Amino acid sequence: MSGPELTVAGLGVSYGGVRAAHDIGFSVAPGESVGIIGANGAGKTSTLKAIMGLAPRVVRSLRFGEHDLCRMPAHHVVRAGIGYVPEGRHVFPGLSVEKNLLLGAYTRPWKAQTRASLDEVYDLFPVLGEMRDRLAGALSGGQQQMLAIGRALMSRPRLVVLDEPSMGLSPKLVGQIVEVLKKLNAEGLSILLVEQNAKLTFEVTGRCLVMENGEIAMTGSCEDLRGDPKVRSIYLGL
Ligand code: ATP
Repeated sequence: MSGPELTVAGLGVSYGGVRAAHDIGFSVAPGESVGIIGANGAGKTSTLKAIMGLAPRVVRSLRFGEHDLCRMPAHHVVRAGIGYVPEGRHVFPGLSVEKNLLLGAYTRPWKAQTRASLDEVYDLFPVLGEMRDRLAGALSGGQQQMLAIGRALMSRPRLVVLDEPSMGLSPKLVGQIVEVLKKLNAEGLSILLVEQNAKLTFEVTGRCLVMENGEIAMTGSCEDLRGDPKVRSIYLGL
């Protein structure tokens, strides 16, 4: 496919009188990995939710491949090929690991492929295979994050959007998540990663947007942003 996979133009989010995001525009090319960094409350989650159809939005144009997402409900957005890993994981604690994963395949018309997808997730995260019959609520935070990523992959997305996957995880687990995301991207999956952790984001993505007060304050290659004095002091603590 040529041209961008995801194109966002003139996207705004408001909750009553609170303006969370304003005039957001960017694109993600097929196979590209793009990051959105910014402080607490900068509008990152609202932007992702608005793309997924889960936040009150105004938008000039929102396209994913051949799909116009402007009036598409969230479950159709997943069917169009975007997997979503929400902030805080939101696994179903009273269901087994495997049942949580199977719920991620609800959009799939070909049930025969579901077994193959489960095996792929278990290859990616062996610990989930070992714990497939355990209740998701009994998993550690890191294992729940792996489950949330695995569940998103069960719909066989072309693009996966992740909201703060590193939140609350130990550096070792963050390292594991980084490796998995790099592997998935190397296999051709497009990634849109929202993070407060700029260091992690620069490892996983090639290009980033920096959000401040609901707007895009800066964009650039991770290499350029890593060298930017403001980014270094505010987002990398250097
Ligand atoms: P965080 O890193 O904490 O998730 P964020 O960059 O993702 O922050 P958002 O969660 O999008 O930022 O929040 C942007 C602004 O919108 C904040 O001022 C927040 O208080 C406000 N906000 C977010 N969700 C709601 C809501 N459901 N109702 C009212 N205001 C909200």
